[in-house]
Amino acid sequence: MNETHPVTSPSDAGPPRDSECVLALNAGSSSIKFALYDLTEPLRRRVRGRIERIGVPGTKLTVDDSTGIRAEGRGIEARDHRGAASALIDWLEEARLSSAVKAAGHRVVHGMKHSEPERITPQLLDELHGITPYDPEHLPLEIGLIEAFQKRHPKLPQVACFDTAFHRTMPRVARLLSIPRRYEAKGVERYGFHGLSYAYLMEELARLDGPGPAGGRVILAHLGNGASLAAVRDGKSIDTSMGFTPTAGLVMSTRSGDLDPGLAPYLSRTEQVSPAQFYKMVNRESGLLGVSEISGDVRDLLAREAGDVRAAEAVALFCYQVKKWIGAYAAALSGLDTLVFAGGIGENSPLIRERICHGLEFLGVELSEERNEKNAPLVSPDAGRVKVRVIPTDEELMIARSVIRVVDLGSSR
Ligand code: ADP
Repeated sequence: MNETHPVTSPSDAGPPRDSECVLALNAGSSSIKFALYDLTEPLRRRVRGRIERIGVPGTKLTVDDSTGIRAEGRGIEARDHRGAASALIDWLEEARLSSAVKAAGHRVVHGMKHSEPERITPQLLDELHGITPYDPEHLPLEIGLIEAFQKRHPKLPQVACFDTAFHRTMPRVARLLSIPRRYEAKGVERYGFHGLSYAYLMEELARLDGPGPAGGRVILAHLGNGASLAAVRDGKSIDTSMGFTPTAGLVMSTRSGDLDPGLAPYLSRTEQVSPAQFYKMVNRESGLLGVSEISGDVRDLLAREAGDVRAAEAVALFCYQVKKWIGAYAAALSGLDTLVFAGGIGENSPLIRERICHGLEFLGVELSEERNEKNAPLVSPDAGRVKVRVIPTDEELMIARSVIRVVDLGSSR
């Protein structure tokens, strides 16, 4: 058992313990982000937390209160996501927050044909078990989390918020993969991911600019460790760079993005690379990390690019590919009205935004140097033909909003 280091008493974690709230859970491969929202209008975040290093030594649970002050930080034991869920439930009980939680929502990476968030029923859970081959990396972890909550709180309503749902509006021409047609019947098509982030960005865009511009021709660029772009028209996704799996599209932190399909048989023939080794290579050892041989983290690469050509080439590859996708989606949309940057890189790096947008003036994309430098909400000049926005994304808030839309929380609102 890891040593526990409570930073402060759980009772410091936030205001009125008895008011009702919704729990949003966002599981990654070795972490779980979570947040509790009071059922106010608009929703108010009470606490936000993280469990990191799940399955490796040094697993840690941290919680910040609504003002961002660290309310909890302790070592926990969690061999997997079920164990992490158990530790989280223990903490909620200790912090006397458990009975306030009226429903929980989960980011579920793959939802096949589901186009809306859905209440988790035994049938839906069976279905999720059945589709784990589509995303063997994430779905079992997410199912483990759902089942751990079900076991400890069988009556708690839980909602699955699918990361693929936003893209179910894509036309067939964007969904079809150019392989023998019979595979389509088996569900092999472009699904696209980052849907919760994109749905949130579109709601924010409508709030900031009104329904008119949000209904125009929009390109969303979610640039984090995982990175993708989406083309959106009339508020609906018409194309996205990730595909059947999240490995497709742009070069990412450790994922390769699109590759020549001939590479897999070539490596198998010449270096006896097995399917499992290939999977590991294109998901964990490629992308910025693979090209730079230094790091998959853009900040590290920017710090090293002046003195190390490998870092400089990795950053250049990333910016070049994002620029190409913007060009492609401007063509798919027959023009461009709004470009939105989000994700850790998109929200925080003026330099990367500048390099991506440089040369896109022909599309009407221009940046105001001063606004861009400040990561301002609007980084294009007032007279710019294309509005270029920076919108901090919030997948947990989108999960909480989805839960409230799906579960009737009765008089609690
Ligand atoms: P995840 O997909 O894991 O949620 P994030 O959205 O947090 O990832 O994005 C992580 C990426 O954002 C990293 O490459 C990190 O270097 C980059 N990033 C964060 N802040 C900055 C910054 N100020 N300048 C450049 N890159 C940044």
